[in-house]
Amino acid sequence: MSDEEQTRRSGGGGVDVVVVGGGAVGVCTAYYLSSLGRRVAVVEKTGVACAASGKAGGFLARDWCDGGPTEALARAGFDLHASLAEEHDNPWEYRRLNTIAVKHFTRSKDKVRTKSTPWIDGSSSKEQVLGTPETTAQVTPGKFVRALMQAAQSRGAVLVEEEVTGLITAEGDGDGREGKGGEATTTADATADARNPRITGVRLASGQELRAPKVVLAMGPWTHVAREWLRSVPDITGDKAHSIVLRPPQDSGIDATAVFIGYSDKGKMEHPEIYPRPDGSVYVCGCGDNTPLPPSAGDITPSAGRCEALREIAGRLSSHLHGLVPETTQACYLPISPDGLPAIGELCSGLYVAAGHSCWGILMSPSTGRAMAEFLTSGAATSVDIRAFDPKRLI
Ligand SMILES: Cc1cc2nc3c(=O)[nH]c(=O)nc-3n(C[C@H](O)[C@H](O)[C@H](O)COP(=O)(O)OP(=O)(O)OC[C@H]3O[C@@H](n4cnc5c(N)ncnc54)[C@H](O)[C@@H]3O)c2cc1C
Repeated sequence: MSDEEQTRRSGGGGVDVVVVGGGAVGVCTAYYLSSLGRRVAVVEKTGVACAASGKAGGFLARDWCDGGPTEALARAGFDLHASLAEEHDNPWEYRRLNTIAVKHFTRSKDKVRTKSTPWIDGSSSKEQVLGTPETTAQVTPGKFVRALMQAAQSRGAVLVEEEVTGLITAEGDGDGREGKGGEATTTADATADARNPRITGVRLASGQELRAPKVVLAMGPWTHVAREWLRSVPDITGDKAHSIVLRPPQDSGIDATAVFIGYSDKGKMEHPEIYPRPDGSVYVCGCGDNTPLPPSAGDITPSAGRCEALREIAGRLSSHLHGLVPETTQACYLPISPDGLPAIGELCSGLYVAAGHSCWGILMSPSTGRAMAEFLTSGAATSVDIRAFDPKRLI
């Protein structure tokens, strides 16, 4: 890339940080970096919020991670969602809601109308309260991520719509000082680990380079692809899940209650979730399959059978959802790390990871992004202790 092109792409005089991946985690990192006055470029190959971050349920729970390593991250994420919605006039439809669990058995003929949720009127439902407006909430995740990207851009962040295909390393001693080999640039590869590289930018599919002293991998379930660039990148992959969006009649009485379902059919259990949304639609997700992660979000194909299963389950749980034709059928991948915990922090000099949030990436994206921004600017995350998520534990 010519100097002029490099300058244009990075929004002026170069950037402090390149974030690879425009999902919730990458965008929140860019948002908080830009609010700290840092110049940041988000490189996204398919589209902002094109993957799980645009197709998730958007359910938020304050205390469901209590007692585990992600407790502080989840609680901080819950609080940040409330304050972000207020600060930005809530274009992503944040709201508090009730949450219940119901059990449904297809063989039973009994009909039990749930007490607080009359629209759950299918057979043999038993209700358990899981959350109240004090403890559970929701956002429309695609709107949330795109709005925060715009907010970051209004503070000078740039969006580069390209695929990252490699890392650039100045071979050095790995502690951020001038490298033994000076600034000779190579593309990092699997053998570079042995040389303790200092990462100084990314290579794009166009063959061009984007330089920055710090690079954050926020590639969700595609993070493992970067192992082809640097062997020590954590092996974060994906688990597929489906979702559909239904649009019941306006007078159906479906209220702001999230419903977690234990659904048993011929001895097989499914655990779908139903999220009524403020725009009147009803989002239903669950039902995974083993299809391997394709190279890009644009190549993900939903299974017609799994989407039909979601439609059928929703219709059995609620007569108001019965027989509706989904206006959207889709699939996406949860980012899964080898030990089930997110990887957040520094991997080697100049290279950072923020990925692997499994089923809580929307909830934890603001707290992760804020912690990453602190870590990148001052060397320590002050708002949340992220040491348990050190990506080096996964090498
Ligand atoms: C069905 C379903 C429902 C869910 N519901 C909830 C929920 O209710 N609440 C909750 O908190 N979480 C939920 N989750 C989990 C949540 O969606 C994820 O944890 C979160 O979206 C992950 O965000 P991310 O930014 O890490 O990854 P992603 O959203 O996957 O984003 C990664 C991005 O990186 C880009 N990328 C990858 N490789 C490259 C490259 N080489 N160059 C440039 N760009 C690249 C991709 O195109 C993609 O846009 C759900 C997940 C699923 C599947």
